[in-house]
Amino acid sequence: MGLRTGAQYLEALRDEREVWISGKRIADVTEEPGFRNMARTLAQWYDFQHDPAVHDLVTYETPDGDRAHISYIEPRSKEDLRRRGAAFAAWADVTGGMMGRAPDYMNAAIMAVGAAKAHWGQHKPEYGERAYDLYLKCRREDLLLTHTFINPMVDRFKPLSEQEPYINAGVVEESSEGITVRGGRIVGTMAPFCDVNLSFLSPNITVDEEDIYALGMVTPVAHPGLKWICRDTYDLERSHRDYPLSGRMEEMDTVAVYEDSFVPWEMVFEYKDVEIHNRTAPAVRFFQSLGHHVLVKNVSKTRFLLGVAHLMAESSQISKFINVQERLGDIVTCLNTMEALAIAAVEGAEKSADNGLYYVNEAAVQAGLRLYPEFYVRIVGHIKQLGGAGFMAAPDQATFEALGQGLERYFRGAETDAENRVALFRLAWDVVGSSWGGRQELYERFFFGDTQRMKALLYQGYNLEEAVSMVQRLLEPPQPGRPFALPDREPPAAK
Ligand SMILES: Cc1cc2nc3c(=O)[nH]c(=O)nc-3n(C[C@H](O)[C@H](O)[C@H](O)COP(=O)(O)OP(=O)(O)OC[C@H]3O[C@@H](n4cnc5c(N)ncnc54)[C@H](O)[C@@H]3O)c2cc1C
Repeated sequence: MGLRTGAQYLEALRDEREVWISGKRIADVTEEPGFRNMARTLAQWYDFQHDPAVHDLVTYETPDGDRAHISYIEPRSKEDLRRRGAAFAAWADVTGGMMGRAPDYMNAAIMAVGAAKAHWGQHKPEYGERAYDLYLKCRREDLLLTHTFINPMVDRFKPLSEQEPYINAGVVEESSEGITVRGGRIVGTMAPFCDVNLSFLSPNITVDEEDIYALGMVTPVAHPGLKWICRDTYDLERSHRDYPLSGRMEEMDTVAVYEDSFVPWEMVFEYKDVEIHNRTAPAVRFFQSLGHHVLVKNVSKTRFLLGVAHLMAESSQISKFINVQERLGDIVTCLNTMEALAIAAVEGAEKSADNGLYYVNEAAVQAGLRLYPEFYVRIVGHIKQLGGAGFMAAPDQATFEALGQGLERYFRGAETDAENRVALFRLAWDVVGSSWGGRQELYERFFFGDTQRMKALLYQGYNLEEAVSMVQRLLEPPQPGRPFALPDREPPAAK
C-alpha cells in the first residue's frame, strides 16, 4: 500500500474502536470535540510525507520497491541514521518539538522489534518471524502505533505474582487459534488516534517462570474486547490563537483494558518465556532505536523554548539584565548539550553483530534521556520567572475583539503591539501553565521510565572496571621519584 495520505489516515480511524471519556463511548474520534484537532494534526503529518518539498527527505524506497517514511528504515549505515535524524527533525521543527508521539517515534520502535527477531525467536522461531512480519505490516500499510508497556499502578511493592491476578494484562487461556487476554496495561499515549497497539511488559518489571504476563503482541486499537479509557482532554476547543499548542497537539493518554479479548497467534511475538522477557531491553536496543528520535525532538523543543524565552524577555526589555541573560544562556547550554548528543549519537553509532544494523551510540542516548527531564523542568522554571504577571495580563481573542484599541496601552510590550505580546505570552502559558503544559512536564519526567530508577539501573549495569582501576593505580603507595603506574592496555587510539 505504501504511504498514506491524511485523508486515508482519517478514514481508517472511523471504525469500531472503543474509546471512553467522561462516561461515554466516542462515536468518531475525527469529529469528537477535544479529539478532532489532534486527528487533523496527525493527518497533516501523513500529508507532509507527500509534500514535494520534503518527500525525498522523509521517505525512502523500501526493499519491496514501495516508499515508506524513513523512520521505518532498517539502518545499514551511519548515513541511513543521518537521513533518519533529518526526517525526525523535519517534523519536530514544524511542531516546536512539542509532539513527543509524532508517528515516526513508534515507527522506529516497531522496526526495532522486528529487527530483534532472533531474540523473540530464540526458543521458538515462529515468534521471531511474527515480530518481523508485524514490522513489515506496519511499514507496508503505514500504520500508526501506540504502545503499552507498564502494569497499572495498583501496587508497586508486591511482585505481580503476589497481586490479584489480571490487574496486568495476562493470558487466561490458549487454543490452536490464539490466546485470550485479560487485564490492563498503561499508558497508551495517542491510542485513540492509532491503528495498532504494541504491547509487551517492560523488562524492568519482574515476571516469574512460565508467567502469564510475559506477553508481547500487536493488536489493532479497534479490537473486540479492548477498551481505551481516556483522561480528561486538555484541548479546550478554543481558538488556536488563545491555545496554540494544546489546541493542536493534545496527544491524549489512555489505559488499555483487555476484557477476555481473543488475540490470534499471528499477533503474538512473546509468550510465557521469562528468559526472553528478561533479555528484551539489550536485545531490542530500545534505548538506541527510540532515543534517536528523542534526542532530535529535544533539539527542536529546546530551540523553540529558547525562542519563546528570548522573545518574552525582549518584549519588556528585561533581556538587558544580566540575571535574565544568565537564564537565557542556561537554555542555550541545554540546547548545545542536546545538539552535541544528537550528533554524537549518530557519529558514534555502532553496527550490531547480531543483525548487521546500525544503532546510535548508547552513551549519547542515555545521557540525553537522563539529562533532559532536569533540563526541561529548569527551562519551564526560567520561562515562568521571565514571565511573571505578564502571563496574567493576557486576555483572550474575544476580549480583544470586544475592546480593540482600548487594550493597546496596557497590554503591549516595549516595542511589541498588544496583540502580538499577548499571543506570545499565551503560547508560553500553554507550555508552562496550562493543564496540557503540566502534562508535557510529566511526560518529560516519566515517558522513558522514572528517571531516578533509570539512573540507578544505569549505575547497576555500568562496567566500572576502568573507573576503579584508574583510582587503584593512583592509590598505589607513593615512593619518591616513582613514575605513575600505567594502565595494562594499549593507549587509546587518537580520535
Ligand atoms: C504523560 C505520560 C505518557 C506516557 N506514555 C506512555 C506510553 O505511551 N506507553 C507506555 O508504555 N508508557 C507510557 N508512560 C508510562 C511511563 O513509561 C511510566 O510513567 C514510567 O515507566 C514510570 O512508571 P510509573 O508511571 O508506573 O511510575 P512508578 O514506577 O510507579 O513510579 C512512581 C514513583 O514511585 C517510585 N517507585 C516506584 N517503584 C519503585 C521501586 N521499586 N523502587 C523505588 N522507587 C520506586 C518512583 O521512583 C517514582 O517516584 C507514560 C507516562 C506519562 C507520564
